[in-house]
Amino acid sequence: MNQYDVIVIGSGIGGLVTATQLAAKGVKVLVLERYLIPGGSAGYFESQGYRFDVGASMIFGFGTEGTTNLLTRALDAVNMKMETIPDPVQIHYHLPNNLDLKVHRDYDLFLEELYNYFPDEKEGIRKFYDECWAVFNALNSMELLSLEEIRYLTRVFFQKPLACLSLVKYLPLNVGDVARKYIKNPELLKFIDMECYCWSVVPADLTPMINAGMVFSDRHYGGINYPKGGVGKIGETLAEGLEKLGGEIKYQARVTEIIVENHEAIGVRLANGKEYYAQRIVSNATRWDTFEKLIENKKPKKEVKWQQNYRQSPSFLSLHLGVEAKVLENNPECHHIILEDWNNLEAEQGTIFVSIPTLLDRSLAPSGYHIIHTFTPSSMDYWQGLTPKQYEFKKEEAAGRLIERLEKIFPGLDAGLDYMEIGTPRTHRRFLGRINGTYGPIPARRLLGLLSMPFNRTSIKNLYCVGDSTFPGQGLNAVAFSGFSCAHRIAVDLGY
Ligand SMILES: Cc1cc2nc3c(=O)[nH]c(=O)nc-3n(C[C@H](O)[C@H](O)[C@H](O)COP(=O)(O)OP(=O)(O)OC[C@H]3O[C@@H](n4cnc5c(N)ncnc54)[C@H](O)[C@@H]3O)c2cc1C
Repeated sequence: MNQYDVIVIGSGIGGLVTATQLAAKGVKVLVLERYLIPGGSAGYFESQGYRFDVGASMIFGFGTEGTTNLLTRALDAVNMKMETIPDPVQIHYHLPNNLDLKVHRDYDLFLEELYNYFPDEKEGIRKFYDECWAVFNALNSMELLSLEEIRYLTRVFFQKPLACLSLVKYLPLNVGDVARKYIKNPELLKFIDMECYCWSVVPADLTPMINAGMVFSDRHYGGINYPKGGVGKIGETLAEGLEKLGGEIKYQARVTEIIVENHEAIGVRLANGKEYYAQRIVSNATRWDTFEKLIENKKPKKEVKWQQNYRQSPSFLSLHLGVEAKVLENNPECHHIILEDWNNLEAEQGTIFVSIPTLLDRSLAPSGYHIIHTFTPSSMDYWQGLTPKQYEFKKEEAAGRLIERLEKIFPGLDAGLDYMEIGTPRTHRRFLGRINGTYGPIPARRLLGLLSMPFNRTSIKNLYCVGDSTFPGQGLNAVAFSGFSCAHRIAVDLGY
């Protein structure tokens, strides 16, 4: 009863893609999720007729062509489909010195906007983004599976030698290295920093070129597509596909320990004392949570090294707002990034992110209203050591400041508010089960691109990690990649 082929701890998109890929191969899989619903950072909550995405809402990987459309592929593998709504603009940037431009789905339209601001850098802009396309085209020409599996690597190399060599060239590079080759204007280089920061939460010098190649090109290729019914539907649909293929998923099942015997992971223990056993254990919790909280043994040397290379990014202060529709009459774009001073790009509550998914899917709010999810980086330190009263006061104060800044882009926001839920790093830690509510790992210093990011196997036999603290990092499509590669490695290890 308690014996499985594979146990996956956590039903984030990384965990669910691993589980569904394995179930599709006939592997007996159990997913254990501590929360009430699947999805993790791609989950949702409902209140007063609004359905909010808790985190992600700018979704890559739902394209129909090529090989990098990993969400489409993950759903296909379990015979599931989702309706999506194309977003014509990825981001509307509102940046210092009146740099106000849109990243259109149409690549040439986007470049035209950029050329208008930086006419002297026209050639450099084209060359920089063309190099991003070179990375993307190489990735998008091959099946994306485990880079730890030598037969796959050999096969891909013989099928696509040039694409492989191109990727090997870019693997140790960061975006800053490439951008500075072509671009001299400091303001434009700041813009490239922001292009990276808004998904990698670090500037160009620390952002791996492989990830940037994906993001900067796929937005014009497969595009940004919003799942009808909200982002939470992705996790729910994958979980449904998993169960249809005989996989199991248990909610409110918090794993407190990975059982390790003779340096080998053999099972898990839940908070309620139940134990489950499997030939392979996969952790979708962050590496910090996995190796510091779920395993009693001394932390393996490789993990100590990893923690020297990568630190926890800050979490977020998030406001989930319900607003009268008239507030957004002059703002048709779903995603906005706002920054008033370049010095505050990485500062506590500096850059503001805004998502308004009801501009694409009206079903997420009552008629006549929209939802706005706005968030800004905030660290756990900022919210520690407060009495409950001080905490509430600090939340209200921070929310007030954020709304005041947003008023410049969305005049009448404050007056048009119908609903507000304030989340802090403490909320993210509590509901997402992520240490300090972190968004994910970021380089602690300048590293060689993605070379130091670990794959799925760990130093503990039969224990694997999946999700944003494994190659290639944060974002739904990235963790889906991690899920494909984890499942591939395990299937080979189990002889499937
Ligand atoms: C505010 C915000 C905005 C974002 N915006 C975007 C965006 O627009 N586009 C994009 O692509 N990405 C975005 N991201 C990033 C993206 O959501 C994440 O990178 C991705 O969802 C992480 O997936 P994961 O599978 O690695 O882990 P998670 O989503 O963290 O899932 C891990 C799961 O494991 C469970 N778990 C943890 N520990 C245990 C345990 N001990 N026992 C049982 N279960 C456990 C958790 O409850 C959770 O369900 C955003 C993230 C945030 C927070």
